[in-house]
Amino acid sequence: MNWDSGTLNPYQHGEVFVTYDGMETDLDLGHYERFLDVELPGISNITTGKVYQSVITKERNGDFLGACVQIIPHITDEIKQMVRETASKDDYDVVLVELGGTVGDIESQPFLEALRQLRNEEGIDNVMFVHVTFVPYLNAAGEFKTKPTQHSTKELRSMGINPDMIVLRSQEPVSDDLKAKIAHFCDVAPNAVVNTPDAQSIYEVPLVLDRENAGQLVSDRIKLGIDTANDENTLNEWEKIVKSLKIQDPVVTIGIVGKYVELEDAYISIRESLHHAAAKVGAKMNIKYLSSDVDIENNEELKEFTEKLSDLDGILIPGGFGERGVEGKLQAVDYAIENNVPIFGICLGMQSMVIQFARRMGMNDANSTEFDKDTKYPVIDLMEKQKQIKKMGGTMRLGAYDCTLIDGTKTKEAYGTSNIQERHRHRFEYNNDFREELTSHGLVISGTTPDNFLVEIVELPDHPWFIGCQFHPEFKSRPNNAHPLFVSFVQAAFDNK
Ligand code: GLN
Repeated sequence: MNWDSGTLNPYQHGEVFVTYDGMETDLDLGHYERFLDVELPGISNITTGKVYQSVITKERNGDFLGACVQIIPHITDEIKQMVRETASKDDYDVVLVELGGTVGDIESQPFLEALRQLRNEEGIDNVMFVHVTFVPYLNAAGEFKTKPTQHSTKELRSMGINPDMIVLRSQEPVSDDLKAKIAHFCDVAPNAVVNTPDAQSIYEVPLVLDRENAGQLVSDRIKLGIDTANDENTLNEWEKIVKSLKIQDPVVTIGIVGKYVELEDAYISIRESLHHAAAKVGAKMNIKYLSSDVDIENNEELKEFTEKLSDLDGILIPGGFGERGVEGKLQAVDYAIENNVPIFGICLGMQSMVIQFARRMGMNDANSTEFDKDTKYPVIDLMEKQKQIKKMGGTMRLGAYDCTLIDGTKTKEAYGTSNIQERHRHRFEYNNDFREELTSHGLVISGTTPDNFLVEIVELPDHPWFIGCQFHPEFKSRPNNAHPLFVSFVQAAFDNK
């Protein structure tokens, strides 16, 4: 029912992905961007909350002319309209709709009904249904179980949807006999049951699907006219990417110091970006997750934390909200400065760098007003515009903004260009009142908004690698096109080994 993912707790749902046009979405959309190397618009994320809000707004406007508003046709029409709108955004050949959840969920029923209607309206040759199921392996019995697949397919058919293809997710590969059995019981063509066992890396999955001939099946079913075996758009380049992601030696170790470390999904785009960068540098990425929730007043805890930091080739401080864990991030920044360890700060990570730099200059309780409203040195503060805002949802500085890089900085050298666009998700900013004082002590501003009003990137010139950015570069890294800041950082960490 959530309208977007912006107000969801990263602990339960993982990272909030941000599109270029400022939508806060589910992290799955990030995978689609990375795999397809495209920038998807916010309307690619359809939620029950959005559908209902739109219908209710229309009802309040009197758009339904006195009709009784119902799930069918009003909600289902709205879903179809939203799906069609995504198709109209660009020159797409195919729209892939991933319906989350499980068949039988109360929440997904209107969506299944809308997609069933869509097939009738768009024509049988233009809509294909792929059902993804889990095939558990029972150790005790030593066999795979097909019943869950049979059962969910039956459930789907009771909603009027006959799958054209079934993708079997399993831990190990399943046999051809088992596929044939499922084809028989689920009324699907025998070659349309494909298997994707657990892969070493998620990037291998397209190759697995290709081996299962899934691409050809799709092309035949919706008449795309592609001969995948002889098509010029082969997966050769993709195979090279997968190979470079499998490098085992040498290893570069990066520590992510954040407060949501118990759930790796909370930093999924950062994790992927680090892997892309390591592949580019020619190393294996070893990520260590360090909780920044340390009591630095407690000597034992501080010692343990410092020992963990000393094992790292580079430190990455990710974004975050709220005070918990901030002191640990500041401690990590201090450690990196003292020990010349490459450090990359993203969003709250960048803000932590600024705060710690100010404290080291003698502004003892420098802070962000997010954590201490009465600090004497509010080096990070709310923008005037943000001060008026009371509502939480969708009110941050969100989406892609232009940024101008300053000549002679390491940041500009990493990007190799002056004008960049990066995605944001924050309320607080570097406070311009402290700009002069901080720069006079050596904190270099390496990127600003084109009008030079907002500070977007800071760096330290006399440190091996100390860059903090207010935006989230991790949303733009691709396996075939690693992000320049991540590549530069991982290279520096590698050189620091
Ligand atoms: N809490 C900080 C802000 O709102 C940083 C946000 C983030 O790291 N995404 O500005």
